[in-house]
Amino acid sequence: MELKTRHLTPEEIGEAVQILREGMVVAFPTETVYGLGANALDPEAVKSIFRAKGRPQDNPLIIHFANAQQVEEFVQEVPPQALLLMERFWPGPLTLVLKKTEQVPDIVTAGLDTVAVRVPDHPVALELLRLTGFPLAAPSANRSGRPSPTRAEHVLADLGGLIPAVLDGGETGWGLESTVLDCTVTPFRLLRPGGVTLEELQDLVPVLYQAEGDGIGTEAPRSPGMKYQHYAPEAKVYLVTGDGAATKIKELSEPYSQRGEGVGVMTWDERAELYPTLTVLPMGPEGNFAALAHNLFHLLRQADILGLKVLFIEGVSEDNLGLAIMNRLRKAADQREIKT
Ligand code: AMP
Ligand code: MG
Repeated sequence: MELKTRHLTPEEIGEAVQILREGMVVAFPTETVYGLGANALDPEAVKSIFRAKGRPQDNPLIIHFANAQQVEEFVQEVPPQALLLMERFWPGPLTLVLKKTEQVPDIVTAGLDTVAVRVPDHPVALELLRLTGFPLAAPSANRSGRPSPTRAEHVLADLGGLIPAVLDGGETGWGLESTVLDCTVTPFRLLRPGGVTLEELQDLVPVLYQAEGDGIGTEAPRSPGMKYQHYAPEAKVYLVTGDGAATKIKELSEPYSQRGEGVGVMTWDERAELYPTLTVLPMGPEGNFAALAHNLFHLLRQADILGLKVLFIEGVSEDNLGLAIMNRLRKAADQREIKT
């Protein structure tokens, strides 16, 4: 059934609270991306999240809380090193996977005995959590497989007519999803790189990260969501790394250009002039990873709006925030990576 999706301002937050109390979903801003929230303690409400997103039922959700104290009754224990991370990074873009209690409905965790929890660092998200009084299960508010939404208009483009409301808090800050850290194993294991970097975590506690253990194609990925294709625009995406990227991109773009098909390239602002015949999607000033993260999903969506047939993306270094950026780009490229 087609709904009229309401576009609410932060002043209308009371209406969002009402909708959530009635067991329905609302999209809301966080400091990472927009989330599609529902009462985490109401299995029927949570079911609507999966339905609206077209999300596979075996991909568990992150539960958002107003503060760290609220988490206590939903997890069996918080290891001391996890407590250290909560104190340092919450509220913020760090999700911790912990052993769950029976309070957490199975649908939220896709039947796993662990639960992913975080406290978001966004005034509208925190106010919504305080006013409803219950935690919100919330994945990114996009149709499954699409780039995550960093603006209310992205949510409406994907979920307009499918959800009752989006609460508009403007553009999100980080622009990338939270870091997901499994705290049920020793050492802790990074399941998804995000806004809190591996280097920042390792400054405080030992953390293991195996990029090749991405989960894609493996039988039992530790983070079920990682086995699905993600962040994909309609255009075919190629990730091109190395010093010869510009030459390679020009060569590969030729046949498309000759057929008159739209060819885009995502590159740092300063390098735009290397591609006079292609449509440039500017990543921001060279080396500004925060700006790139902030713009990334918007740029991927622009590729569709511009009707591009193919999009070449120049790879970036994988230090700090670059690790999360390259993780998302590899998924957008569906593993079509060319090293020069
Ligand atoms: P999203 O909310 O769409 O950004 O995705 C949440 C991510 O967290 C997905 O990759 C999930 O697979 C992962 N996740 C959520 N809960 C768990 C859990 N209990 N154990 C491992 N990974 C989880
Ligand atoms: Mg998502």
